[in-house]
Amino acid sequence: MDDCLFCKIVAGEIPSKTVYEDDLVKAFYDINPCAPVHFLVIPKTHIPSVNGINAENSAVVSHIFEVIARLAKEMKLDAGYRVVTNCGKAAGQTVQHLHFHVIAGRDLTLTMG
Ligand code: AMP
Ligand code: ZN
Repeated sequence: MDDCLFCKIVAGEIPSKTVYEDDLVKAFYDINPCAPVHFLVIPKTHIPSVNGINAENSAVVSHIFEVIARLAKEMKLDAGYRVVTNCGKAAGQTVQHLHFHVIAGRDLTLTMG
């Protein structure tokens, strides 16, 4: 999608610090981390949010979670981590391309919202 920040990152038009990439997904560090470890995992195809997931495109979501589990193992996030996706304005979604935050490296037990 032409005017989408994360599509531009996928296309290499905007730089990012890549964590992992394959044909379907890309993982890269968040530019404004909220914890010592904070990266995003996105589908390479443009899906606006969780609301855009359907029977035709949902396979990429299970792949994203496979990738997250593998990266967590490789990055030794054994103490635990959180996976978050914000959907819509009230949830604080600022980039309209489906993305999963992976957050770790500090105590996350006190914050859920
Ligand atoms: P959300 O608020 O859930 O839509 O998350 C969007 C995330 O994208 C925020 O945590 C931003 O810090 C992050 N972000 C925005 N621009 C960039 C960028 N160019 N590279 C990496 N992360 C970004
Ligand atoms: Zn996009």
